[in-house]
Amino acid sequence: MRIGQGFDAHRFSDGRKLVLGGIEIEYPLGLLGHSDADVLVHAIIDALLGAAGAGDIGMRFPDTEPAYKGISSLILLENVVNELTGLGFSILNVDATILAQKPKIGPYREKMLKTLSMVMGLNPSRINLKATTTEKMGFVGREEGIAATAVVLLEEPAYG
Ligand code: MG
Repeated sequence: MRIGQGFDAHRFSDGRKLVLGGIEIEYPLGLLGHSDADVLVHAIIDALLGAAGAGDIGMRFPDTEPAYKGISSLILLENVVNELTGLGFSILNVDATILAQKPKIGPYREKMLKTLSMVMGLNPSRINLKATTTEKMGFVGREEGIAATAVVLLEEPAYG
């Protein structure tokens, strides 16, 4: 077994869609980033890469690369999942937390879960999504942005 953890944070910005867990969320502000700035998916990607000992999302998908401008992070996630499963890794489970003072994540949780389980080819029972505020403390609490953490457990390929 191999464990990996991921963390990401993006700041709010005008004139952007808010995309979290691969779905659009109704909110007056979006997150700033080179891709769609899906902070939850980025944390999951980093946890996957971490567990596989395969670097990080910035090495894989540099924000200087025009091809990734505005890209759906689900495509990046699918790419990483395909690579790891191609190497023989199995994803056992994903546990993630969104840190957001606003908006409320609860109403979108099921749809995020469905989307992620589809893209990752995982039974939804293997993905757990949590959300918390930070009780108005720090950058999340001041509503400057959203952060996310994720932990992933992989089973290594059996080497002969
Ligand atoms: Mg990011």
